[in-house]
Amino acid sequence: MTPPRCLVRGSLNNDEYLHVKNLVRAGETIFSTKYERRAGGKGANQAVAIAKAGGRVDLLGSVGEDGIWLIQYLQAIGVSTDNVSVVETHTGRAMIQVADDGENSIILYPGANFYPLPLPRALDSRYTHLLLQNEVLFSSTQTYLRLSKSCNPPIISIFNPSPIPSKEQVAQFPWSNLDWLIVNQGEATALCEILTEESILKDTPISEIIAKLCDAPAFYPSTNIICTLGAKGVFAHTLHGTIVVPAASLRGPVIDTTGAGDCFTGFFVAGLMEHSANKVSTTLSLPELESILRTSVEAAGICVQRRGTIESIPTRKELTQ
Ligand code: ADP
Repeated sequence: MTPPRCLVRGSLNNDEYLHVKNLVRAGETIFSTKYERRAGGKGANQAVAIAKAGGRVDLLGSVGEDGIWLIQYLQAIGVSTDNVSVVETHTGRAMIQVADDGENSIILYPGANFYPLPLPRALDSRYTHLLLQNEVLFSSTQTYLRLSKSCNPPIISIFNPSPIPSKEQVAQFPWSNLDWLIVNQGEATALCEILTEESILKDTPISEIIAKLCDAPAFYPSTNIICTLGAKGVFAHTLHGTIVVPAASLRGPVIDTTGAGDCFTGFFVAGLMEHSANKVSTTLSLPELESILRTSVEAAGICVQRRGTIESIPTRKELTQ
């Protein structure tokens, strides 16, 4: 049996933090009190989480010359970066202002993440899982998803549509190729509104939102849905039924929730990979799914009690489960 290996086709960013007293207003020029540069981008964050969870992972993406440090940084954590190209443009950037009261404002520059890398005709047969987000060209995301299903055996596909795609993109997305959709509550609501063309009332229970999403004509009913609910944990819907797993009980205060979703997603995918290594069938029973979700919420619970994004993701060894 092929040992599990995940391909992440996603983004890499130079995250630049400018610490300020108050967020800058229109027309104002202010000094910042501290500057930090950190590794980021949802592709990189989730690939790191898979590696820290013990999974074999390759990141496929691109940076400019100013992002070569990112390649070295990710390699040192255990992410294979042979498929990260250095292209003739700037690396993607997030310019993040952080105010003394914790408020932030972020400007994203896609840069090399939107570089049109050549598309393959088939995926390497070493891959068993494919993880996608929405910070690279949508056409590339769609192509990789389609290719995952023309492999024999098909590659298990996971999509975290963040940031949420446009109406047009959602309409043309090959939903029937997707095995696992991972969304947070806001993304679930937005996707449901686009697919059903109905407004969702505030306070609608997540079970109702997910049920509506599944009934939408464009959505594929066999796609499993995982919806993270912040401090409320996670809701999962599969053909075998639905389950709710509460968030981890924390030992200390919540320090920084940035990247909690990426940490959760990486551990979840690593859990799917571990399951497929031990079983002939890739179908998960509800108890098997619950066990993977418990590990993933525990990892995300550690993540929110630490500062940073990639830096706050724990290793598998730090978990009790
Ligand atoms: P995102 O970061 O994508 O918005 P969520 O806010 O839903 O995603 O968080 C992802 C996961 O992180 C949750 O399912 C939960 O396990 C964990 N988490 C987030 N916030 C908290 C919190 N305040 N307390 C405990 N766990 C949390």
